[in-house]
Amino acid sequence: MGEMNMQNISEAANRIIAAQKATALTGAGISVASGIMPFRGEGGLWEKYDPEEIVEINSFLRHPAKSWAVLKEMQIVIEKALPNEAHYSLAKMEEIGFLKSIITQNIDGLHQAAGSKRVIEFHGNNRRLICLECKTLYPSSEISLDTLPPLCPKCQGLMKPDAVFFGESIPLDAIQHSRSDVQQCKTILAIGTSALVEPAASLPLIGKRNGAFIIEINPEETPLTDTATDLFVKGKAEEILPKIVEKLLESTKK
Ligand code: NAD
Ligand code: ZN
Repeated sequence: MGEMNMQNISEAANRIIAAQKATALTGAGISVASGIMPFRGEGGLWEKYDPEEIVEINSFLRHPAKSWAVLKEMQIVIEKALPNEAHYSLAKMEEIGFLKSIITQNIDGLHQAAGSKRVIEFHGNNRRLICLECKTLYPSSEISLDTLPPLCPKCQGLMKPDAVFFGESIPLDAIQHSRSDVQQCKTILAIGTSALVEPAASLPLIGKRNGAFIIEINPEETPLTDTATDLFVKGKAEEILPKIVEKLLESTKK
């Protein structure tokens, strides 16, 4: 960890302390250390498949078995995945009173698994499946993927992960809660998101217009970096966040 980054980490912690409380927006990058590949990263599922085809609602409806063959691989990875230090750090930040909420674009359920309480799921969750006919929700562990596509045990309707696909709209309560959280908070942490998928990508800008200070944590620069970010902390979430939490804990002891 270079001199520069330690300075950035201290400033990030000071901004979070001053904010009382911060809100975090997380993306696929925060789950990379848990073995779940992001859409726009090296290796993994999405170099072989085009997400805009597999998780696009119209192509899913046209070829559900084809999409499900890939979705099944993703379900297996997600069900095995465990939270990493980045998820645990955000849970700790909430527990010690510095984080109001997490708005996540992830569909892996790992923030809740790490113990975070207020998690706004902007894109739903793959650990649930929904019947597109009768709208019943099932835990994914209850639905066998031996025959694809899986059908509803009650009505034989087509089952889909309860995640938002391209071409679908964001759940209304997620939109409302996340807008009000980014408008009210003084500090926003944008962590591991490429900030390319709308409308999630605009949330930091909405906050900024209401006076929020934007801290971005990512190994790479993103479209946010030059437009919205006030403090860019270059690095992996699982390395940076525990260091920020250390500083927050020190501040409570003073
Ligand atoms: P993205 O795949 O577009 O971008 C990932 C970002 O994470 C990149 O900016 C990359 O530089 C950064 N990154 C990589 N490793 C990192 C690390 N160790 N620490 C911090 N950052 C790291 O992800 P997105 O912006 O979330 O958008 C893609 C969409 O894909 C989301 O809407 C989500 O629904 C879906 N998705 C979710 C998961 C998941 O639930 N884990 C996985 C893949 C895709
Ligand atoms: Zn049904």
